[in-house]
Order: sequence, then C-alpha cells, then structure tokens
Amino acid sequence: MAASEPYLSIVVPVFNEEDNVDALVSQLTTALDGAGYVYELLLIDDGSTDRSYERLAAHAARVPGLRVIRFRRNFGQTPAFCAGFDAARGTWVVTLDADLQNDPADIPMLVRRAEEGFDIVSGWRKNRQDAMVMRKLPSKVANWLIGRVTGVRLHDYGCSLKVYHRDVVKNIRLYGELHRFVPAVAHSVGARITEVAVNHRARTAGESKYTGLWKTIRRATKVLLDMLTVRFLHTYGTRPIHVFGSLGLLLLASGFGTGAYLTYLKFGLGLSIGDRPLLTLAALLVTVGVHFLTLGFLSEMLARTYHESQGKPIYFVRERAESLALGGQPEESPRSLTT
Ligand code: UDP
Ligand code: MG
Repeated sequence: MAASEPYLSIVVPVFNEEDNVDALVSQLTTALDGAGYVYELLLIDDGSTDRSYERLAAHAARVPGLRVIRFRRNFGQTPAFCAGFDAARGTWVVTLDADLQNDPADIPMLVRRAEEGFDIVSGWRKNRQDAMVMRKLPSKVANWLIGRVTGVRLHDYGCSLKVYHRDVVKNIRLYGELHRFVPAVAHSVGARITEVAVNHRARTAGESKYTGLWKTIRRATKVLLDMLTVRFLHTYGTRPIHVFGSLGLLLLASGFGTGAYLTYLKFGLGLSIGDRPLLTLAALLVTVGVHFLTLGFLSEMLARTYHESQGKPIYFVRERAESLALGGQPEESPRSLTT
C-alpha cells in the first residue's frame, strides 16, 4: 500500500451541525490518533444553511487528512454517504453521524472486529438515547421487518456507525434512502456481516432532522418501499420473468380453465352463458395473465440492459488461488498465488 493511502476513511454527513463540528473533529482525531491509524476524514456538508461549512473549512486548513465536500443544496443523508464512499481511499470506510450521538471512541473496536474477517461491522445502539414512541418504537418495527424481508437480521439497521470494507462501498450504488440497506444488498453478494453494541449518546447541540409525525410517516414510507425494492431486485433482479411469468401463467391457466368450463356449459349442455359473471372473470384472467407475461419479457429486456450497460456482474469473487504455470507445462517447483 502506498504511504499516501489511508487505512481508514471516516465519512460523516453534516447538515446544520455548526455547534457539533468542532467537538466532532476533535473527538475523531483524538480517538484515531490514539489508536495509531493512518486515516482521512471526509466531511460531507449536505447543503447546510448555518456556519457548518465555514467551520469545517477552517479545520481542513489545519487538520491533516481532513477533506470537506460541500453539496450545492440539501440532498439528504444517503447522497451524502454516497459522496463520501466515492471519495474514500481507505481500506476500511467508517460512517457515523455528525451530531456526536455516535461515539468516535468506538471506531477502533469496530475496525478490529472487521479485521477479524468481516466485510461489514454494524453498530447496534443497544442503549439508544432517543424518544421512545416517535423514534425507538418505529425503528424496532422497521428492524424486525427489514430482517424478515431481506434475511439479514440486524438489531439496528438505522445506526450510522458502521465499518465497511472498501470493496463493499465501491461496488454498491445507493439510491433513495438506501444507505440503511447496504448490509442487505452486500449480503446478497456474499458479504460477511456482524454487529457490535456501541455507545449512543443524547444529542446535546443542534436538532434532529427527522422529528414530527409527518416526517416520521414520510420516512417510514420511503424505507418500506426501499425495502421492497431491495428484496425484489436481489431475489428476482436478474430473472424478473420468474415472478411476472409465474403469475402470468397462473392467471392464464385459471382463465383458460374457467373458459373451458363455460364452453362446456354452452356447447355440451346447451346452456346460455351470456349473463354469467364467470365469463367476465375468465376474460379478465386471460387478459391480465397476458399482461403479466408481457411485463415479464419487458423486464427481462430491461434487466439485461441494466446489467450489460453498467458492466454489472451476476457473480462476485471473494478471492482466487492459482498456479502461474499453464496446464501441460509443469514448472520445476509449482508456485501458487493468492490475490
Ligand atoms: N443529515 C444530513 N442530511 C440531512 C439530514 C441529516 O446530512 O438531510 C445528517 C445530520 O447532520 C447527522 C446525521 O445525518 O449527522 C443524522 O441526522 P440526525 O441526527 O438529525 O438524525 P437522528 O439521529 O435524529 O436519526
Ligand atoms: Mg442524531
């Protein structure tokens, strides 16, 4: 590794946190210098309207390895993380909140856990310091649901304090509110994930950006839809015809079955079927069945465009072990190579 490459990249989204950034920078540098890491601090100013940026820029002039990226407007926490992931150069990428609710002193512990052989170490705010009804309860429900739906059971998807191997963040694109689902997406490509209980502190300065009933409902709706998207893309993303096609065939078969029965009534028994609701149902089943099949084929074409245009692989390699010689041309002493 070149000396100019950091070992850790710390990514922190900052939105109107002017009263937190000074303490944030000092707690981060204390914790990381103390543990002897080579690191960079990537602070993403997500369109703050207070003096957050000016304060961060002042730190950038003084603190080695500190870089500030300022957004043109407020894009949200997920795009902020994404900008940090794009800029990160470290082997491990650590994310946390700027409001000091996460404790920078926990970082070395999480990194050590990751070094034991994990791709993601997720913080678990075991003793969370937030309001019960509006924050902790919805979060408990969400964690349970996300765990069931994605198959990756974590106690605390919402905890920002996480450590990712660089391969994870460089290979996953984030959309919507998707930063929460990085573990689930990464799991579907074979990442090893674990969680560790971390310290959580009450906010002492500034305000939470996600309070109030309306904001909670909006956020919950987005999270729910993102969860369904993640589930769909990662179970059927490469074979959408399997979902739409199965459904289409099922509907078509029921439609034809119903139609056959009505045909028998008409021509076999000579009964009138013009006023049977079943006739409408049969027509509906066949029509919708055909639509689902068509949708399946269209999605297949889209999936192919999606994967091929972005060079997205349908498999992921963890590592390789190989001999340098070709088969049939044995070397004196066979060597092996691991990458
Ligand atoms: N944040 C951000 N953009 C936003 C909202 C929040 O970058 O649009 C940052 C915020 O500055 C903080 C973190 O995301 O560092 C978490 O926000 P907050 O503390 O308000 O959320 P809570 O802890 O209440 O869930
Ligand atoms: Mg907070």
